[in-house]
This record gives sequence, structure tokens and C-alpha cells, in this order.
Amino acid sequence: MIDLLIDNIGVLATARRSPWRFGDDVLIIEDAAVAVSRGEVLDVGPSSTIRKRYNASRVIDAGNKLVTPALVDAHTHMLFAGNRSWELELKLGGATYGEILRRGGGIYSTIKSTEAASDGELMRSLEDRVSVAMTHGAGVLEVKTGYAATPSGEARLLGIIRRVKPMVELVDTLLMHVPPREGGREAHVNAMIETMHQLMPSFVDVFCDDGAFTVDESRRFLSAGAGLGIGLRLHADELANIGCSELVGELPLSSIDHLLKTPGDVMAMIAKSRTAAVLLPCTALSMLSGEKPRIDVLRREGGIPALGTDFSPNSWCPSMEAAMELSTYLYGLTPLEALMAATINSAYSLGLKGVGMVAPGSRALLAVWNVDDVDWLTYWVGGGKLSQLLLGSVVMEFKASPAT
Ligand SMILES: [Zn+2]
Repeated sequence: MIDLLIDNIGVLATARRSPWRFGDDVLIIEDAAVAVSRGEVLDVGPSSTIRKRYNASRVIDAGNKLVTPALVDAHTHMLFAGNRSWELELKLGGATYGEILRRGGGIYSTIKSTEAASDGELMRSLEDRVSVAMTHGAGVLEVKTGYAATPSGEARLLGIIRRVKPMVELVDTLLMHVPPREGGREAHVNAMIETMHQLMPSFVDVFCDDGAFTVDESRRFLSAGAGLGIGLRLHADELANIGCSELVGELPLSSIDHLLKTPGDVMAMIAKSRTAAVLLPCTALSMLSGEKPRIDVLRREGGIPALGTDFSPNSWCPSMEAAMELSTYLYGLTPLEALMAATINSAYSLGLKGVGMVAPGSRALLAVWNVDDVDWLTYWVGGGKLSQLLLGSVVMEFKASPAT
């Protein structure tokens, strides 16, 4: 007797292996069923076969609809207080980032509100945001620190990410986000390295860009992480190309993110590496810039695309459904490419084994969508497609709108 059988799956779509590279095939099974035991996938195959093989104490009817792995958000800044909704009109009016800062907005205002918030307030808002992300199919999320003025403030934020216990798994990243406002940059990097030593986060990350940290500072911080065996992530080429993405040739990066300004030859180098290219189309949208990464090169050279929301006060997007939709309409990913980016490759970028695919031995993290096939995942814009999220033995039901 097994715990759970998900039956009457119209189409099951999942990667065959990790990572998925552009051009790789995908496993598609029609009329499928999935057998689950103790929170793990035991068997996957045609419904007629699986049904004969197992007796289940509980059966979930997928309604002849699409089932995929639960989505994995590879990049969020979900832990902060306040919001910056009032900056939108300034952005629409053409205000530069510097002008918004001068009017008291921008990242320093978020740091101020986050530092003023209690641990309890921050934990509650993080839990609320994760709950919203789950209604859009997220089964695992990465969460970065980054809105503290000091390394000890960053340590506090990392502690909060680790203490929060939502229904889905969170992966903690210590982010070196904002240089100190006046001087002391080297001392700041040193203190962040010391914080990394003390706390041993799952990942470290740097905002390497014009106006943020330099390539040398980023190299120093990430090299210290590599020396400790901590996973490395990198914000690169979002605002300008100052050479950050070239670090992919020097350091064992798990992910390199944004890549809006990355030149074609560097993108080819990224594509040929083992580093996942994390695409963040919600950010491109919120920047009102119309820019996009060189997906043509990434695709031609067989790269590993992953996907995140980049949820932040500057890009209020908690939805991986939206990230997938925008990856199609802004970046030109096919629905199947978007699905691979949002599942197996985001999990790969976070070093998560048995997540992001549906195969014997993988964790039972699945999404049932109220659509008939993979094309509908991004053809239908505006979210609301999720009907069930399976997290181990817990099944959450959502009120999905009809597909047609
Ligand atoms: Zn980011």
C-alpha cells in the first residue's frame, strides 16, 4: 500500500536529467499517473500500468490536466519591510535611479524601513509573501539578505530567513548588496567575509555592477565563499557591463543572474560552462527598459537557463507563473523552455537534488495546472492557472479559472 496516487494526469511534463540544456529533450507522458510514498516519487508512467502496480490509501484526480514539477524560484529578495510603490510614477516620468535616491526613495529607504522593523514583523511579511508565491506554483524559493546597512544587520536577516518555517523550503543566501555610503569599502567587504565565516550560509551572492560592488571586490568576496565550500551566485550585468560576468571563467559559480548587458562572447562562455544563467524578466519589465539578455547565444551554445522572480521592492513580482509568462513574451523562451528553466534548472542552480523533476526517488513536489498542455503555461497570461500544489504528503487546492 502506498500513501498517494496522482491519477488521471492528461499530460505529465518533466526534465529527464539535471541540468536541462537548450536543445535537450523532455519527458512527456500522456494519460499518466505518479505513485508517491513517504514524500518521494516511487514510480511514474502510463496510468494503466501504475494503477495496476499499486494500491494507494489516497488518490488525487488531476482532472485530465497538466502536471509538472512544482516551480523553483531561483532568485528573490523577499525579506524587507515597506514598499516603494510611489516610485513608479517617478520612473514613468523618466526619473533616473539617482533622482529617486535624492527624493528619499530607492534602496536606502528600504534599508531604513527594514532596520526599523522587528524580527517578528519581518518574519510575518516573509511568510505572507511565500504564501502568495505558493499560489503561483512555487515549491522551493531562494531568499537573499541584502537590506541592512551593516554586516551585523545582514547576519540578523540571514537568521530570520533560517528561522521562518513556511510550508515550502527556503534556501538562504547572504547577499553583499549595497556598498557603505561613505568610504570604508574594503573594511565592509572584510566584515562581510567574516560574517560568511561565522554563519556559513547555503549561498553567497554579490551585486556586482556600476554603482554597486566592483569586479575586484566581488572576486574577493566570492573567492572566500569558494574557499569555505559555500555555493556562489552573482548579480552581473544588470545596469552596465563592467566585466562582472567574466568571473564565470574564474570561479565555480552556481548561478549568474540578470545578464541584460552581457556581450555575446561572454554569454557563449556562460553557455558552455556548468553555471546556470538565471533570467529575471520581471525585473526587465519593472525597469521599463525593454532590454533582454542574449538568449539567442545562450540557446545556440546549449546553455542552462534558470528562472527567478527577483521579487524586491523595486520589482514586486512574487509569481513564478508571471516570470514564466514574461520569459516567453519578453525574452522569447518557448513554453517548454520556460518550464525547464523554472523547474529543473532553478533547482540545479540551488544545488537541490531530487527537486524540479518527477522521477523515481525525487521529492514529491508537484503542480497540477488547470490547462491541457505545456503551451498553455505561458500562452495564458496573468496567472491563476494552478489548481493543486503537492508538497510531500500535503495537497493544497486552489481555485483555478477555467482554461477556455
Ligand atoms: Zn536580485
